[in-house]
Amino acid sequence: MTDDRVGLGVDIHRLVEGRPLILGGVAIPSERGLLGHSDADVLTHALCDALLGAAGLGDIGTHYPDTEERFRDISSLRLLEDTVAKLRGSGFGVVNVDATLIAERPKLTPHFPAMRARLAAVLGIEPERVSLKATTSEALGALGRGEGIAAWAVCLIRRA
Ligand SMILES: [Zn+2]
Repeated sequence: MTDDRVGLGVDIHRLVEGRPLILGGVAIPSERGLLGHSDADVLTHALCDALLGAAGLGDIGTHYPDTEERFRDISSLRLLEDTVAKLRGSGFGVVNVDATLIAERPKLTPHFPAMRARLAAVLGIEPERVSLKATTSEALGALGRGEGIAAWAVCLIRRA
């Protein structure tokens, strides 16, 4: 019997001056970057939460707490790598992921090919199985004022 699981991940980080903007493990030219204990890669965090959720393994805050010094400024790709290892430990492999970033600026779509390639390598799947999309908040609310970036992600995992 096929044992498939879906998972959902949502994350949001504040945009501030003096930080690099890292999304999907890729540094994106921007006057501001996301604030957080790690590199604050909101997309990769949402993916981690989706994968952990699908496997019933809790959430990113439980596994990689922002109170721990060893996670300070860490590349979130390392957290994703560890998440994938936890899934494999439970017998699961990733089938595909799909994510939407909500950001007023900068324009993200030109960076999608690099982000998909980087995430796919860590997830152990082909880039065509890593879907990325971007939208704005139509100038509504905090995200619409460009105060932060949010990410939603879903995934499908399968027990081998
Ligand atoms: Zn986060």
